[in-house]
Amino acid sequence: MSWEAVIGLETHVELSTESKMFCGCPARFESEPNTNVCPVCLGLPGALPVPNREAINRIMRIGLALNCSITRQPVFHRKNYFYADLPKNYQISQFDLPVCVDGFLEVGGTDPGRVGIERVHQEEDTGKSTHMGGDGRISGAEYSLLDFNRSGVPLVEIVTRPDLRSAAQARAYGQELKLLVEALGVSDARLEEGSIRFDANVSVRSGPEAPLGTKVEIKNMNSFRSLERAVTYEIGRQTHLLSQEGTVVMETRHWDEEAGATRGGRVKEGSSDYRYFPDPDLVPMEIDPAWESHIRASLPELPAARRTRYEQMGVDPTMAATLVAGESGLAGLFEEAVNLGAGPSQAANWVTGEVVAALRKASINSVTETGLTGSALAELLEMIGQGKLSGSAAREVLTGVIAGEGGSGQVAAARDLIQISDTEMLAEVIEEVLAAHPDEFSRLQGGEQKLVGFLVGQVMRRTRGKADPKLAGALIAERSSAR
Ligand code: ADP
Ligand code: ZN
Ligand code: MG
Repeated sequence: MSWEAVIGLETHVELSTESKMFCGCPARFESEPNTNVCPVCLGLPGALPVPNREAINRIMRIGLALNCSITRQPVFHRKNYFYADLPKNYQISQFDLPVCVDGFLEVGGTDPGRVGIERVHQEEDTGKSTHMGGDGRISGAEYSLLDFNRSGVPLVEIVTRPDLRSAAQARAYGQELKLLVEALGVSDARLEEGSIRFDANVSVRSGPEAPLGTKVEIKNMNSFRSLERAVTYEIGRQTHLLSQEGTVVMETRHWDEEAGATRGGRVKEGSSDYRYFPDPDLVPMEIDPAWESHIRASLPELPAARRTRYEQMGVDPTMAATLVAGESGLAGLFEEAVNLGAGPSQAANWVTGEVVAALRKASINSVTETGLTGSALAELLEMIGQGKLSGSAAREVLTGVIAGEGGSGQVAAARDLIQISDTEMLAEVIEEVLAAHPDEFSRLQGGEQKLVGFLVGQVMRRTRGKADPKLAGALIAERSSAR
């Protein structure tokens, strides 16, 4: 039997708004513990939440970029559960009327396709508990510390339909979503810092036509690598179980990075366990069409559109993807150089090849920290096109420009790297060489073609390597046949 995996992803994106979701506290949680807190985000009795308009703007940006419809009157619900990092004993979230519904994201990679988006809803983050003593888990800890700086920070949850079919696809979706969120400027979008976190729902069935199998939810992966590994592991575990006539238990599992395995956790709560009900502290919200179109009009060019645009300019698709996925300064550099007249294909080649290599070699993280601007790159490419720089000289100029020595022309001149590619100048040198080697020249005229190489060598010597050898060869050949 050939088993088919079915995967749906739930992604939490922490918004980088100034203030929290329902109070005016700074939404920054790297501050001293429990300094960015107030009665609202500490859940003190009588404190009233007020929604953050900028957070709503941002969730709409995300939803519209994901081709969703906007709900006219979205509702905030209370999701009730007890945990020490949740002082109200409920999280304000959304239930049947989330801000955005019914969209999709096109995902590339080796197995491209359209991933349905079921909903995008707004909620608030919890505080952070640190379990002291033991191995960091709550079991075996002596006591726990609570920091409420993160309590109430706006979170957006993006839920896909069960449309993904492999771990690689799940990863590709995650990567595309990160690029999208980054382009929208709504979140720091840094996985290492937990500003994007993935939960994966995985089931296995006997074939594409079979009904969906029982799913397992794997919580809180915060790297693409763990997302892909966890899903791969879970597909293997379930396939093995089902092949042995076993059954999959519906549960929440955790990904253990070191063990490379998912571990059984708690039996999953059904939504009825949370006793969702509309939060009576929050007045109904109305998103009118004008607000929606205002947000729609402010959307930037999205990654997919940008890749297509680069490809239409003649950039190789892999390089277009590298430019869009790379550090943002690289795409900016590329665009600026092209605007100043550089050929798109050559500029993309240089940016994704030599520039990336040179930055890595100099251990520089961002091109924006260097002297390399679009105009310096355009100048460099122009000099190459004019035959003023050999390949190795061009790389040396790039190194100098990155080090802040000046523009390309300036660096090439200062480091004495400009090739003599001026026909008149070269012709003069060639005359000198021919006069110094009359025998060789007459043998060449007699048909000994290999002497072109010898004479070019003499030209290179006389110019200390700075002549354009191709041009010199052509001029010598021309001169010998002219008689
Ligand atoms: P829950 O009630 O557990 O929250 P939902 O139906 O809301 O389940 O779906 C949560 C996520 O699980 C969604 O991303 C959805 O696409 C995915 N999902 C639902 N059923 C399955 C399944 N059988 N296999 C894999 N993923 C699934
Ligand atoms: Zn507060
Ligand atoms: Mg659900």
